[in-house]
Amino acid sequence: RQPIVAIDGPAGAGKSTVTRQIAQALGLLYLDTGAMYRALTWLVLQSGIDIQDEPAIAELVSKCEIQLVPGENPQEPVRVWIDQQEVTEAIRDLEVTSNVSAIAAQPAVRKELVKQQQRYGRKGGIAIEGRDIGTHVFPDAELKIFLTASVQERARRRQQDLKNQGKGDISLDELERLIYERDRKDSTRTLAPLQKAVDAIEINTDGLTIAEVRDRIVALYHE
Ligand code: C5P
Repeated sequence: RQPIVAIDGPAGAGKSTVTRQIAQALGLLYLDTGAMYRALTWLVLQSGIDIQDEPAIAELVSKCEIQLVPGENPQEPVRVWIDQQEVTEAIRDLEVTSNVSAIAAQPAVRKELVKQQQRYGRKGGIAIEGRDIGTHVFPDAELKIFLTASVQERARRRQQDLKNQGKGDISLDELERLIYERDRKDSTRTLAPLQKAVDAIEINTDGLTIAEVRDRIVALYHE
């Protein structure tokens, strides 16, 4: 059986960058499950569907086609497409970010997207990141990591990212509040809430570089 490395954790803990590097270091496919929930959220907003309209969203998720295409090099995020439209940048917008938790909490949405994630995992070994990978999507993963960092550190990193992209006008307080709120929604929903799997290894990344986190996980994988 092909190996599965599951990386879960709260918003902004550095999962994407770390998971991409793990995939590269171990020769695994990379899957960003958050990008799937974000793409669907973008489509819901775009279609003018109310985010509480579960039947309409259930219909939409069953019909839409989400594609994740790896970047040219492992430093780049995946390119994301939904129904033939590229949404790579759009899914990182504040509007998507503040609505995604409400859509990701809906049973029909999780059922369909988890099915697609499990299918992707059967193609080969993967490094996969999200909130419920170790607990629900691949409970039998070879290695489960739970990445955390203090909310202050996560807000600082997010501010740095925004600055690098030339969109640096959100205060640290506001970023902390947004992160805190998203974590609260993700960890209090009924279905597959954000939670450390009992057999996951927790790594607090405060004060660690990406390379240090990556090396630690690669070492754990080879143990
Ligand atoms: O990881 P990212 O911040 O891109 O995830 C966006 C949102 O998608 C999360 O806040 C959460 O609501 C949802 N999500 C989820 N289950 C996953 C991955 C993401 O519910 N496995």
